[in-house]
Amino acid sequence: MTASQDRGRDRLTVVVAAYDEVDSLPALHRRLSPVLDGLEGDAGIEPRVLYVDDGSRDGTWEALQVIAAEDQRVSLLRLSRNFGKEAALTAGLDQVCEGAALILDADGQDPPELIPQFVAKWREGHDDVHGTRQERDGEGWLKRATAHAFYRVMQRLSPTPIPTDTGDFRLLSPRALAALRQLRERHRFMKGLFGWVGFNRVAIPYHREARVAGQSKFNFWRLWNFALEGVTSFSTAPLRLATYLGVATALVAFVYGAWVVFKALFFGDPVAGWPTMMAVILFLGGVQLMALGMIGEYLGRLYVESKQRPLYLVDDWRPAAGVSSGSTT
Ligand code: UDP
Ligand code: MG
Repeated sequence: MTASQDRGRDRLTVVVAAYDEVDSLPALHRRLSPVLDGLEGDAGIEPRVLYVDDGSRDGTWEALQVIAAEDQRVSLLRLSRNFGKEAALTAGLDQVCEGAALILDADGQDPPELIPQFVAKWREGHDDVHGTRQERDGEGWLKRATAHAFYRVMQRLSPTPIPTDTGDFRLLSPRALAALRQLRERHRFMKGLFGWVGFNRVAIPYHREARVAGQSKFNFWRLWNFALEGVTSFSTAPLRLATYLGVATALVAFVYGAWVVFKALFFGDPVAGWPTMMAVILFLGGVQLMALGMIGEYLGRLYVESKQRPLYLVDDWRPAAGVSSGSTT
């Protein structure tokens, strides 16, 4: 039981990572604010909001200051540059020292109106309440199809349970949050980290809306890299694949080699076959380079990890009244 529960009020901090979201944030806060009022009244929750400005260049910080000036519940955190969504969320969650945290996208794609449902599940004793997307508006079929495939592939490759079609829209109980805070890896695949933590989990299906303004920051190249991140952070299956590929190639080579020797001994086959030679050399070269590349992916990550740099740097921290600071590494 936390100190706030002793007083009969649970604190809930809504953490929003924002990168160049000047057009969406005021609209989001207008939607969020009545939901927080409702929580304060009905559920006896002490709601707080923490906006993390992930090094925006478009006046997001100024817009956030206007929001904070008008609402006592709002804290602001600004990172020294754009560190990416995963680091921005980590920075935000690090600052939540009391009560639960709920992660929300700045673009209004995760409806704030569902927050009371998340809170109800938390109160029933769940530690990780996550929104599962039933439908996605405003996203092309290609993005939907690749996202669908990605979640299925991840689930097969990774021993860590990662719920399908689940974004970052979720509520974490204080103990889940404390557990997550211990995972300080540099390559942060948050969906996997949430899954790794475990505890009592429950899904809330919802309808993912289209963005209210601006454009998605995740183009296909970024999504591809994100997928690579997921696979390499939570599975060593590609390394094993390299082994199997090697074994299979060696077996085929052995059979083929025996056949060549047999032919030469019994039929006196003259040396021939530049095309077959070329094909074999190129094939083997390709397989070897691919296996090397896979090893390289893991080695590169090991290298980055070994440097032990902080995950993000804070430029400015403006806590709301009554909010204490967490660690900022
Ligand atoms: N975001 C961030 N840093 C970044 C990229 C994105 O904090 O480098 C935030 C962004 O402002 C938004 C959320 O992450 O609140 C989700 O981003 P986006 O809507 O672009 O992704 P999508 O919904 O298309 O997956
Ligand atoms: Mg979005």
